[in-house]
Amino acid sequence: MRKNIVAGNWKMNKTLQEGLALAEELNGALKGVTPNCDVVIGTPFIHLASVAAAIDTNKIGVAAQNCADKESGAYTGEISASMVKSTGANYVILGHSERRAYYGETAETLKTKVELALKNELTPIFCIGEVLAEREAEKHFDVVKSQIVDSLFELSAEDFGKIVLAYEPVWAIGTGKTASAAQAQEMHAFIRQTLAAQYGQEVADNCSILYGGSCNAGNAKELFSNPDVDGGLIGGASLKVADFKAIIDAF
Ligand code: PEP
Repeated sequence: MRKNIVAGNWKMNKTLQEGLALAEELNGALKGVTPNCDVVIGTPFIHLASVAAAIDTNKIGVAAQNCADKESGAYTGEISASMVKSTGANYVILGHSERRAYYGETAETLKTKVELALKNELTPIFCIGEVLAEREAEKHFDVVKSQIVDSLFELSAEDFGKIVLAYEPVWAIGTGKTASAAQAQEMHAFIRQTLAAQYGQEVADNCSILYGGSCNAGNAKELFSNPDVDGGLIGGASLKVADFKAIIDAF
């Protein structure tokens, strides 16, 4: 059966020293505790190896926030999936709306990134979600379906089974404007139906679908109580251990 997951996305925050201190504080907060969900922290690339070495990796997974769409070679400034893997990280966030919007990531590049992540035994946390104008035009289901179909539906059922999805309505990210529990459930159920139509009910039922967008200690319990919401991708609230731990404790 699918896993519940709470994954933090630190984005471009924290120096190496601050990031290590945050990771160690989270490690301490989870000491002697068995969370009712998997816990992941998505750190900047340069923190990955130090954070992976400092934390209890039996309890906390480590994610990169991106990886290159090339295996290796003359791509100055890029970080490959195999490099990410070599740090001890085991997840990679792909297709975050900030990367799609500010760095021009397309369905095609994301498709390649997903393939390279899987080839290097990283679990992709693949982000999808509509912008406000698309929701207002009632195109949100079509947009989300296309994002899934265009980047993921050429995968075999076996490979698709290794993916975690994160539904993140762009209008809710970093805005303090959360989707209601009903809006989240409606979209997550639609996503699961879309997966079932392509890969069958078992694959759909086994896929963890996280919600992201201003999820916090105050709203996590209600969001996570939906049958198709299997956890959260957490931005701002993952930068303070007390807040992040409270979200973990929502399970
Ligand atoms: C995110 O960036 O994935 C996110 C959900 O951010 P926030 O929780 O800050 O809205």
